[in-house]
Amino acid sequence: MPLDAVRQFIEGADSFIVSTHVNPDGDGIGSAMAMKWALLKLGKRAEIIIDATPPDTFHFFANYSWLTPYAEGMEHTASAGAAIIVDCPSAERTGRVARVVSGARTLIIDHHISNERYGDVNYLDDSAASSAEMVYRIIKHLGVPLDSDCAEYIYSGVIVDTGRFRFSNTTPETLRTAAELVAAGAHPAKVSEGIFYSNTVETTRALGAFIGSIRLHHGGLVATAEFNYEYLRRPEYKLVNHEGFVNHALAIRGVEAAMFLREVERSVTRASLRSKTIVDVNALARSFGGGGHARAAGCTIETPLDQARAALIARVGEMLPKG
Ligand code: 5GP
Ligand code: MN
Repeated sequence: MPLDAVRQFIEGADSFIVSTHVNPDGDGIGSAMAMKWALLKLGKRAEIIIDATPPDTFHFFANYSWLTPYAEGMEHTASAGAAIIVDCPSAERTGRVARVVSGARTLIIDHHISNERYGDVNYLDDSAASSAEMVYRIIKHLGVPLDSDCAEYIYSGVIVDTGRFRFSNTTPETLRTAAELVAAGAHPAKVSEGIFYSNTVETTRALGAFIGSIRLHHGGLVATAEFNYEYLRRPEYKLVNHEGFVNHALAIRGVEAAMFLREVERSVTRASLRSKTIVDVNALARSFGGGGHARAAGCTIETPLDQARAALIARVGEMLPKG
C-alpha cells in the first residue's frame, strides 16, 4: 500500500525540507503548504524551500511566510534528515533546492506522468488531478484532522490544476475531495477571489498583448501566442502573472493544441503547451527535453523565439491526424 510507505517515511524522521518545482503554481505551493502543515501537526519540524520568489498570488494563504526562497549557501546551513518533494517530475526541476536536499532521504509526491521516480519513496499517481489531492489522501491516512487553513491550501491546488473543475482530469474523487475541503472550512469564494480575481492591471494588459499575438496554424488546429525577449524585459512585466493565459488560445473553436512561447533569454524560449483531446503535449514537450501531462506540459528550447516556434509547429504537425 503506497500510503503505508509514505506514513513510514514520515514516521522515520523528525525534520523535513519540503519543496516543489521552479516557478511553482497553485498545486506546487498548496501541496507544499499542506504538507508542512501536516508535519507540524505531527510534532515534526519542517521548512519549505523553493527556488523562486514566493508567488504573490498566494498572499491570502494563512502562514504565507512559510514559503522561503532558496538563498545561496543554504546547502551549508540547512539540515534535514528527510525531504518531501511535491508536484515535481524530476530532481532537476527543483532548481537549486536539489543541492540542499541531495544528502537527504527523499519522498516524492506527484501526479506528473513524466515523473522520473527520483526519490527513495515515490508516491506517484498520474490519474490524480492534482498533487494536492494526493497530499489530502496522505493527511487522511495519517489521521490528522483538517482545519480551514490546510483545507484552503489543498483546495487551491485542486482548483488550479483542474482549471476550476473544467479539465478532463477532474474525477469523482476530485469533486468529493473539494466537497470535503469545503466542509472542513475552505471558502471557495475567498480562494477564487485570491487566485483569479486579484490580477494586477499589468497582468490584464499583458493578457491583451497575448491575445493579440495569437496565430493559427495547421488549418486552425494549432494556436500559438508569444512574448519576445524585449516584451518580457519591459519593467512592467515584473508585475505580470501569465498563469492561465494559454487557455485563452486553447479556447478557440477548432484549436486542438495551444502553445505559449516566451523568449526568456536571447536564445532560450520557454513553451507552455496545452491540448484538448488529440495531441499528447507531454510527448511533444518530451521531444524537446520537457514534460508534464498529456493535456498540459512545458519545455525549454535553447533557440530564439522564431526557431522555437518553427520547430514546435513542425513537430506538432507530425502528431496531427493526416488530411
Ligand atoms: P506550465 O505550462 O504551466 O509551465 O506547465 C504545464 C505542466 O507541465 C506543469 O504540470 C509543469 O509542471 C509541466 N512542465 C512545464 N515545464 C516543464 C519542463 O520543462 N519539464 C517537465 N518535466 N515538466 C514541465
Ligand atoms: Mn500539479
